[in-house]
Amino acid sequence: MNIVTGDRYWINRREIPKRYSYLHKDIKTDVLILGGGITGSLCFYYFNKNKIDTTLIDKNIIGYMATSASTSILDYSMDINMIGVRGLIGEKNAAKAFRLTRESIDHIEKIIRDDLNSHCGFMKKDLLYYTDNKSYYNMFNKECDLRKKHGFNVEFLEDNGNKFDFNIKSAIYCKDDTAVLDPYELSHELLAYGVKSGGRVFENTQGIHVKPLKNKVIIHTKNGFKIEAKKVIVATGYEGRDHIRERIVRLARSFTIVTKPIKNPEGWYNLCNIRDDNNPYIYIRSTEDNRMIVGGEDLALGGIRSKMTNLKQEDKVSFMKYESLEKKVKKMFPRIKDLQMEYGFSGFFGETKDGLPYIGTYDDPNIYYCLGYGSNGILYGEFGARLLLELYKGKENPHMELFRFRR
Ligand SMILES: Cc1cc2nc3c(=O)[nH]c(=O)nc-3n(C[C@H](O)[C@H](O)[C@H](O)COP(=O)(O)OP(=O)(O)OC[C@H]3O[C@@H](n4cnc5c(N)ncnc54)[C@H](O)[C@@H]3O)c2cc1C
Repeated sequence: MNIVTGDRYWINRREIPKRYSYLHKDIKTDVLILGGGITGSLCFYYFNKNKIDTTLIDKNIIGYMATSASTSILDYSMDINMIGVRGLIGEKNAAKAFRLTRESIDHIEKIIRDDLNSHCGFMKKDLLYYTDNKSYYNMFNKECDLRKKHGFNVEFLEDNGNKFDFNIKSAIYCKDDTAVLDPYELSHELLAYGVKSGGRVFENTQGIHVKPLKNKVIIHTKNGFKIEAKKVIVATGYEGRDHIRERIVRLARSFTIVTKPIKNPEGWYNLCNIRDDNNPYIYIRSTEDNRMIVGGEDLALGGIRSKMTNLKQEDKVSFMKYESLEKKVKKMFPRIKDLQMEYGFSGFFGETKDGLPYIGTYDDPNIYYCLGYGSNGILYGEFGARLLLELYKGKENPHMELFRFRR
């Protein structure tokens, strides 16, 4: 499988902040986290902050998989609208899931402000969710009303209001309620905090066999060592689905371009985050140095041997997708004259049937899962880490019910 391809902006804009050694002896730990992407790093942060003896291993380099390909828009709205989620799990639960996701942005902001050495590119942002199809007017209006009813700071727009250069028939404008960040830097910063608090991290260390016993779990690594843990947290991203017998996620490959810095972002109000309602949708954000990141053009993955699952680095499909994204944004922003792609990359992207993640145990009480599939993967990872910490401490949070397996 090639989970990511191309020239990823987040890892190419700097040197690797820290290299961790591989595991070269047998160890014991209270908690072992499998996977050092943003999800595993958030778990590592919370568990170590709570003085729990925690070790993390990653089979590759920290943050080099889905995390390095993430657009990293922090948005509480999900792959499915609140009206759609309400249809699947009821209004009370839909509002609860949206609220938990929204609160997670504040938690990330607080972690960065209070505990980390860098602000990790975190910026609060407005978000425009729009359609250019006039027949969706009622649907957008009702979605906006439902969000207002549950306390979200949103406004309904009927046209582009001279704020945007592209065609808008209806839109929901979320005021200051979303954010953006650098997921790779955040992962490294979270690990650094955890290590300072006593945690251990090993790269190039693959857990190949996870054997649950009565009161512990034994994990064998590919290079022949043994880890004995009281609990294991599986935070292996899209590879996590291999541990689960049911089909819990529908995978696609999503393509992204990052432009060169833009001098005058005319027709892009407030440099806000932007998402349309097409399928697949397009999403746009800015960076601290005024670049535009544009994602979308998803293609279904197909089976394990399919071309999309194993996409080659230089395959022409990718270049066609990057070109198409660049053309689309040039059309949306005709007054921005210096829109020019600098980076292009792709990554696996997953959606669940109800837009919610899978968090909790599956078939063994000592093996926890934190699988934040969906366009809010980072926020799901954040609240997943907190819910698992409570579970570890013996106080199962009632919200866990929403995210359990076989729901
Ligand atoms: C193109 C794209 C755009 C996205 N946009 C957004 C967005 O705007 N907002 C948002 O919130 N989310 C977004 N996401 C989703 C988000 O990026 C992911 O949910 C998140 O990065 C997943 O992080 P992770 O740590 O779970 O997985 P990963 O980053 O994939 O990390 C898993 C790690 O586990 C390791 N691993 C696997 N198996 C083993 C093993 N057996 N032993 C040891 N280690 C192992 C891997 O090497 C890997 O480093 C996007 C994703 C993509 C691909």
